Amino acid sequence: MHLKNSKIIVIKIGSSLLVNHNKKIRKKWLSSFAKDIQKLKFRNKKVIIVSSGAIALGCKKMNYNKTNLKLDKSQAIASVGQIELMNLFSQTFSKFKLNISQILLTLEDTEERRRSINAKRTFENLFKLDYIPIVNENDTIATSEIKYGDNDRLASRVAQITNADTLILLSDVDGLFTKNPKIYKNAKLIKKVKDLNKDIKNINIKGTTEFGSGGMNTKIEAAKICNLAGCNMVIANGLHLNPISLIEKKHNCTWFLSKVTKLHARKKWIISSVSPKGELIIDDGAKKALINRKSLLAAGIKKVSGKFNKGDHIKILDNKRKEFARGLSSFSSEEINKIMGHHSNEIQKILGYVSKSEVVHKDDMVEV
Ligand code: GLU
Repeated sequence: MHLKNSKIIVIKIGSSLLVNHNKKIRKKWLSSFAKDIQKLKFRNKKVIIVSSGAIALGCKKMNYNKTNLKLDKSQAIASVGQIELMNLFSQTFSKFKLNISQILLTLEDTEERRRSINAKRTFENLFKLDYIPIVNENDTIATSEIKYGDNDRLASRVAQITNADTLILLSDVDGLFTKNPKIYKNAKLIKKVKDLNKDIKNINIKGTTEFGSGGMNTKIEAAKICNLAGCNMVIANGLHLNPISLIEKKHNCTWFLSKVTKLHARKKWIISSVSPKGELIIDDGAKKALINRKSLLAAGIKKVSGKFNKGDHIKILDNKRKEFARGLSSFSSEEINKIMGHHSNEIQKILGYVSKSEVVHKDDMVEV
């Protein structure tokens, strides 16, 4: 039902779907997947694939063990494996007359507005040219501090940037269970999550992390991003052949249904940042002003934490430390430390230069 109405679909596949435990490539599976994609294309769907596997395929080619790899070595191995990965897609997809392209993204490419708009344009042009973008994190460049590390969140950010209708996370489990199904026989698959905060409140996500490549944690994080971006998300078992057709046949899976959002694209991008750099704690007066769609002024800020620059994503917390909004700061954390608690007309004197009067402008802010 949900796929039928989706125009843009992002599909994430994990390494374990491409390479099995014996390091054999799952060619038959990939062909069945390509067949599914061909069917989607026949129905005029725009498809983006986010595929892991650079490190797994690099290890296979170079005879390394994936566990205990140091970052610099895994970066080098990923540069070898990424070619293997794309060759694999190219060979398989060409049999189904599907054209593919490669997009390698780093965290900054999605977190910086200008770069994310550039990426969006490239996706749109590839759609026009009838090429299927295959995305991975640029593992050879990304270091641990500036890395997604998991393709679940990367895929959700790609879905948000491209205004996708559905994100499919193909994993090695059927979906989200009430308990870890590997331990508890009475664990039940949750088929629909309508309200992320309420419906999964009693589920111990941490206790369920051992199944699924990125873990259930990162999948829930991805669901949150999709939810805010107005994109539905589904977790389904990709180990089966023809995994996309199975989702449509209402096979076991978990759908996370998002509310219709009227947020402008820029605000969607602000709210679904995966890497806010700091936090501002504000007083009740400022909170009231924000609820009335006013900007955040220095006078209402009680505390700053984190180190950030002008233009960076930050979280805005209320008196009780509850996240209340997100926004782009017009000042660095250092500057806010000096001006917080002060009236806006004192800012110039304190800093010694002319600057904006709002710390977070209302146009740069979204309530969570
Ligand atoms: N980008 C990594 C790779 O291609 C995978 C990240 C993940 O497993 O989510 O190997």
